[in-house]
Amino acid sequence: PQLANQIAAGEVVERPASVVKELLENSLDAGADRIEIDIEKGGHKRIRLKDNGAGIAKDELQLALSRHATSKISTLDDLERILSLGFRGEALASISSVSRLTLTSKTESQSEAWQAYCEGREMAVNIQPAAHPKGTTIDVADLFYNTPARRKFLRAEKTEFQHIEDVVKRIALSYPHASFILKHNGKTTKRYIADKHGSLASRIAAVVGQKFIDNAVHINVEYEGITMNAWLGSEVMLRSSNDCQFSFVNGRGMRDKLIMHAIRQAYESVWGVLEQPSFVVYLTLDPKDVDVNVHPAKHEVRFQQGRLVHDFICKTVCDALHSITN
Ligand code: ADP
Ligand code: MG
Repeated sequence: PQLANQIAAGEVVERPASVVKELLENSLDAGADRIEIDIEKGGHKRIRLKDNGAGIAKDELQLALSRHATSKISTLDDLERILSLGFRGEALASISSVSRLTLTSKTESQSEAWQAYCEGREMAVNIQPAAHPKGTTIDVADLFYNTPARRKFLRAEKTEFQHIEDVVKRIALSYPHASFILKHNGKTTKRYIADKHGSLASRIAAVVGQKFIDNAVHINVEYEGITMNAWLGSEVMLRSSNDCQFSFVNGRGMRDKLIMHAIRQAYESVWGVLEQPSFVVYLTLDPKDVDVNVHPAKHEVRFQQGRLVHDFICKTVCDALHSITN
């Protein structure tokens, strides 16, 4: 089973940032609204997440670390359902197969916390009592220590940490009600603290910059069941910021070609060719009209009616840009 886990790890765990993404999603799934992320040496040495979510019960610690895929498949229907869910249930097993993983957790009803330690190939899980408030801490040390080929592909500390920051920004932009604190080598690099309303505008200001929000056009438009809530960088911003392109579909960060193309086309048609338009765009549509699991790691979606979505985005952005140009 460890070999299977390591093969799966090759797909889920590409680099430290992908570990951070999986762990953040788990914390948010568990209802956490405060997450601290500690990174050492770009994540090569250590990735530690502490959350205040529901926690994992003592007798479920081991289960959380094992791959549930096989036990779930009994019919072809099941198989299709699982494939469509992508890597469901594989993240922790995959990460633990290529690192030294410690899981510490306490649920509301438990009087004490428990800790599970699991190291690479053997998958022998050792469980003992520990001290921890309600919630979970996952400590991933020495990523890829047992897969040298993969370790070789790790870039410089700084590059890997930048990828981690990107992941944290993206997720912080989809969860304005949660607070995120990111540290690198003991120093706090990002602090996104939710205000009491979980305001999206103030989260965008924190992540992208107050200047962006102050100069951006805000639109919130609905058409044929598609809602587009967006902040579009005004012309002044365009030359100064080039790493500010965020799009979300039903709350999930996406780097979808169709969306990017529609927005870029709109900017180009109004302002001519430019380097990098800046935008934060949230699309909401009926989940049955969009498949977000085309490839979980690639951030792409498949729209039932791609043309309609594309033209709606393009026209909406055009109109908004025209309104501030005139
Ligand atoms: P998946 O998220 O697809 O179910 P994972 O391997 O990412 O699979 O996680 C396995 C299980 O471990 C989750 O289903 C959840 O029950 C539990 N788990 C993981 N991380 C946390 C967390 N931070 N808080 C509470 N439970 C968690
Ligand atoms: Mg998960």
